[in-house]
Amino acid sequence: MIALDGPSGTGKSTVARRLATALGAGYLDTGAMYRTVTLAVLRAGVDPADAEAVAKVAERVALSVGTDPRRQEVRLGEENVGVEIRGQEVTLAVSAVSAVPRVRELLKMQQQELIAGAVDRYGGIVVEGRDIGSAIAPDAALKIFLTASSDARAQRRTSQDASEGRESTLDATKLDVERRDRLDSSRAASPLRPADDAVWLDTTHLDVAGVLDRILELVDERELRGVAAGPGRW
Ligand code: C5P
Repeated sequence: MIALDGPSGTGKSTVARRLATALGAGYLDTGAMYRTVTLAVLRAGVDPADAEAVAKVAERVALSVGTDPRRQEVRLGEENVGVEIRGQEVTLAVSAVSAVPRVRELLKMQQQELIAGAVDRYGGIVVEGRDIGSAIAPDAALKIFLTASSDARAQRRTSQDASEGRESTLDATKLDVERRDRLDSSRAASPLRPADDAVWLDTTHLDVAGVLDRILELVDERELRGVAAGPGRW
């Protein structure tokens, strides 16, 4: 079990997916789960700041997420919402929704089930988020905390938006990245925070391959390949 935490725009998703693929492991994007609950809240016409109403939506939301790193699947009911959850409306509201303790409690249970299922299936899993090493899987074999300057993170997010056909500007994205960092780090319920035993990795001057190399070195130093008895290659 590898936990990959850190703020937005540090390259977490790309690195986590490639790492999982390289190791033959499963992959879980917990941010996509918070985004999907947020989409359900918005569609229900509920104010994301109304914690009680948000919790009610979260209680009945039918959310499913895949753990195959080569085929990301996020569903709300039967509908594939992989594109819509990356849109601006959801991005603006997600920090408020993810600060609601009941939402975190419900998603924590679901995340732990998904992790156990993927460990059975693949022999291991890479999980990305904000509180994986500190709250969801405190016994993870390796915990990485990715950081990068807010300029570098805004730049990456803007390029990612452009390549996926979303309109954004560097200034607006930088403001959004900083706003979400502030909200995610200051909330009371499992805030964005590195676990005490996390390895910090500053990606400001590294490309994806550089980050991946460094993490694979850590995987090998800890002899994590081949430790699981499952069908994966760990
Ligand atoms: O990783 P991503 O940017 O998609 O995450 C969206 C939001 O979901 C974050 O800004 C944060 O508010 C929330 N989140 C969280 N805990 C996680 C993963 C994401 O609170 N483990």
